[in-house]
Amino acid sequence: MFIRSILLASTVLALSVPAVALACDMCDKKMCKEKMCMSGGKGHGDMNHGGMDHGTWGYSGKKGPAFWGEMDAANNACTQGKAQSPINVAQFMKGDLPDIAFAYQDIPLKVKNTGHSVEVTVPPGSTATIGEHVYDLKQIHFHTPSEHYMDGAPYPMEAHLYHTDPEGHTDVIAVMIKVGGENTTIGQIWSRIPAEAGAEEVSEEGVVISAYDLLPASPGYYTYEGSLTTPPCTEGVTWTIMQQPIEITQEQLGAFQSIFAHNARPLQDLNGRVVKGD
Ligand SMILES: [Zn+2]
Repeated sequence: MFIRSILLASTVLALSVPAVALACDMCDKKMCKEKMCMSGGKGHGDMNHGGMDHGTWGYSGKKGPAFWGEMDAANNACTQGKAQSPINVAQFMKGDLPDIAFAYQDIPLKVKNTGHSVEVTVPPGSTATIGEHVYDLKQIHFHTPSEHYMDGAPYPMEAHLYHTDPEGHTDVIAVMIKVGGENTTIGQIWSRIPAEAGAEEVSEEGVVISAYDLLPASPGYYTYEGSLTTPPCTEGVTWTIMQQPIEITQEQLGAFQSIFAHNARPLQDLNGRVVKGD
């Protein structure tokens, strides 16, 4: 295990600590509304932008993460929030976490260049059930390097499988990506990345992908309560970070980085939050 485990010390503790309630009670109407504009940027008016425009933002210079909070009052959590993401996962409390029951359907491939990442739009019908929550997979996008660190170090990439449930809770399943063998599904996605930043989508009749190809074989995960890693940095997001990475080739990594050289938010303070793992 590459994580510096506090397993021995925490096992006894974990047995005596009741299961920590997930963030259901943190989601109010306001948050759910704000969350609709998670991708920020250009106000594309699609499902994830909610037709709202919080101004352009980016990953460097005056548009960079240090300035997100002052760009728009709606981004206040980016600077004032105390439960922000991403974080360095260095220690975790061993817990009896529920299994994730995936029920993903084939996804007719539609790829979008949002200007901030490459995003695959997912039609209704694919779910991940975690504990009491049945989450719908809405979209999948990618960051380089990884936003979360594992024991002090990033991976070359991180995939975010963005889910919401009917009550408005958000769960992002994060998958670390390392360099190794080819991932043909990622190859299919990369081959359809629109060159121009914007809301355009490139799809091809009859081409489907499986989100299962973006999941590791091992079901183990870490979980903690955090935020969106893009403006408006809304909190109340449950993070589910798969412990085992998936692989892409160096060429596949380079192909993504030739379009998005760096699209990762810096690490945020833990502020006493506890990461749980199984
Ligand atoms: Zn993301």
